[in-house]
Amino acid sequence: MKKTIKELKEAYEEHKKYMKGYMRKWRSNNPQKAKEIIDRYNKKVCIELKKLREQARTLLGGKCANPYQFHKEDITDIRVLQIDHKNSDGALERKNKIVGWKLYKKILKNPEKYQLLCANCNCLKREKLGEKKGGFAYLHSGK
Ligand SMILES: [Zn+2]
Repeated sequence: MKKTIKELKEAYEEHKKYMKGYMRKWRSNNPQKAKEIIDRYNKKVCIELKKLREQARTLLGGKCANPYQFHKEDITDIRVLQIDHKNSDGALERKNKIVGWKLYKKILKNPEKYQLLCANCNCLKREKLGEKKGGFAYLHSGK
């Protein structure tokens, strides 16, 4: 007999519930092992994420784009370099949960949409954009 979609869905939910309970029980019976697995997984994800970030940075030139000639030297210190969306749709991307992993993947696909900015240049850019928009500039103008 063919099952209806509703029945299939119910069976799936039932199975999901069962697996959840089973996993929980296993974890509480093997806390050390569970921790090891999670640690191993996290480490793997971290390494992959680092690799991806490295690739994205290299693709974007590895230094501050310095759009306002704010500094004479190239800034390549990764501690102060930030990924900037050239057309300032970063807020929208963050809203759509395009961060971390997804963002780096997107950069590798569309590097022309992004640039690297040091923290100073990022601040300057924000101020310049704020000047166009009005209110935001006032907040940062120090008046
Ligand atoms: Zn800069």
